[in-house]
Amino acid sequence: MSPGRSRTTSSEVAHAALLQLIDAIAFAAHKHRDQRRKNARASPYINHPIELARVLALEAGITDVDILRAAVLHDTIEDTQTTQTELERQFGARVAGIVLEVTDDASLHWQDRKQAQIDHARHLSFPAQQVKLADKICNLRDVATDPPHDWDLGRRRRYFDWAKAVIDGMKTPDPALLAIFRETYGRKP
Ligand code: ZN
Repeated sequence: MSPGRSRTTSSEVAHAALLQLIDAIAFAAHKHRDQRRKNARASPYINHPIELARVLALEAGITDVDILRAAVLHDTIEDTQTTQTELERQFGARVAGIVLEVTDDASLHWQDRKQAQIDHARHLSFPAQQVKLADKICNLRDVATDPPHDWDLGRRRRYFDWAKAVIDGMKTPDPALLAIFRETYGRKP
């Protein structure tokens, strides 16, 4: 290598990925800043997207920072005033595309949205399947141990079966995440 030219080292790549992830976490925290989960404690909403990233990175060993960023941002279009263009500008087309894939069609009635998730599962890209699997794993854990305050047992059980129907529709689910999902489904109340 000639003097004066620098080579990008793997630690520089890792540092850049870390900055990208922190940027996404800060963006999501700001967007969800006034939202709460529906559990009895009304936990801060941001706990949920962070938990997705934790499951993907620490439980499934996923290191692709675009997937971790998409997980952190996965509910921003659906639940906050965030547009696809905004995500594209700040995080790039790949991250924005994954988020869009896991975003429900807001024009549909809630019951149709539930069916649409089952119908669309087979069209999801591999990264979108990974984020969707992590979302369902986290939601099932919440419904099992810390459910929305107004959900009775029947509703909690129906949620488990709907989540399973969505995952069963996937064509190429990540084996590690699928194993975690199945173990979680086994805790159906
Ligand atoms: Zn979610």
